[in-house]
Amino acid sequence: MLVFEAKLEGTKQQYQSLDEAIRTARFVRNACLRYWMDNRDIGRYELSAYCAVLAADENLPWVDKLNSMARQASAERAWSAIARFFDNCKKSKPLKKGYPRFKKEQTHGSVEYKTSGWKLSVDRRYITFSDGFKAGTFKLWGTRYLHFYQLKQFKRVRVVRRADGYYCQFCIDQERIEKREPTGKTIGLDVGLNHFYTDSEGNTVENPRHLRKSEKSLKRLQRRFSKTKKGSKNRAKFRNKLARKHLKVSRQRKDFAVKLARCVVRSSDLVAYEDLKVPNMVRNRHLAKSISDAAWTQFRQWIEYFGKVFGVVTVAVSPHGTSQDCSNCGEVVKKSLSTRTHICNHCGHIQDRDWNAALNILEIGLRTVGHTGTLIASGDIDLCMGGEIPPSKSSRGKRKSKK
Ligand SMILES: [Zn+2]
Repeated sequence: MLVFEAKLEGTKQQYQSLDEAIRTARFVRNACLRYWMDNRDIGRYELSAYCAVLAADENLPWVDKLNSMARQASAERAWSAIARFFDNCKKSKPLKKGYPRFKKEQTHGSVEYKTSGWKLSVDRRYITFSDGFKAGTFKLWGTRYLHFYQLKQFKRVRVVRRADGYYCQFCIDQERIEKREPTGKTIGLDVGLNHFYTDSEGNTVENPRHLRKSEKSLKRLQRRFSKTKKGSKNRAKFRNKLARKHLKVSRQRKDFAVKLARCVVRSSDLVAYEDLKVPNMVRNRHLAKSISDAAWTQFRQWIEYFGKVFGVVTVAVSPHGTSQDCSNCGEVVKKSLSTRTHICNHCGHIQDRDWNAALNILEIGLRTVGHTGTLIASGDIDLCMGGEIPPSKSSRGKRKSKK
């Protein structure tokens, strides 16, 4: 699935109609959630049937105005929140279960149409929304890509409201596959606090400076915002300013992640990285840390996306022991977080801490994948290959010393 985004240009009144549609989508989602809370044994089918009940309700005239497929999409959203909750319960991980919650009115909001309720103009520069809210025709900004696909490939159209305007996302049913020459390289990545990552060849990528800068101005804005009077016009002004700034940071972060991930994937045949769980991102009190966490999570998602596009193997390995083990001899060398250099007291190997970790990550990555469809499943060989002697334990995993 490909997603393209264009900005919508229309009149104030048209935007208000979009607001109504977004509000209604939220209403349907919340109503479905309420219905599920009252009847816990119902499933996806009952929820989507409930949409018709809502639409027929005379007390809720606005629900019927929303396109019927958009109503269904809202019910599906409620269901996916419920399904995620059930999933988390089954996993019995020490993470939060995420009991589905009602959505509140926010700056950010969206409504999803499927294949009806909207129409593109022949030149694909305008879109018309034709359901009961009568939002009418909008000019689209940034639609260059829409020309490359057939109309029947447009599976969903999502209207998204952000701090700086209204956007239209087109979800297009097309798998993206690109050809690439094998590079003969494998790479392991270690994420650190000092660098954005260190790879298994000892190269480092710094934390993007613009994120640091944005972080400072975000703090400043936040302070000024909290000094304004509640309910005042000034406060509303600052709320919007703050939201725009957040938007800018998230765009910068995305840009950084996409470019870097694309570059990393294109230049190797296998990428291994740590399977870091960052579930408490919002709870994190240190802004700098939370920004870099978010950047990392996004970077990883793009690595995995480009891995599929370019046919590059991507492996997320367990972070257990990656910084403690010696990449040269495999022995455990205990060290605290402040110890920046790995010094092995078994083989004398000395290396930067993060570089050592990146090598371990690559090693584990290479061991966990690449045995699909092989005859020997367990790893124990009872075939006696001509004179093949299993290596003794001490020499297993031994590498040439780096220096
Ligand atoms: Zn060692």
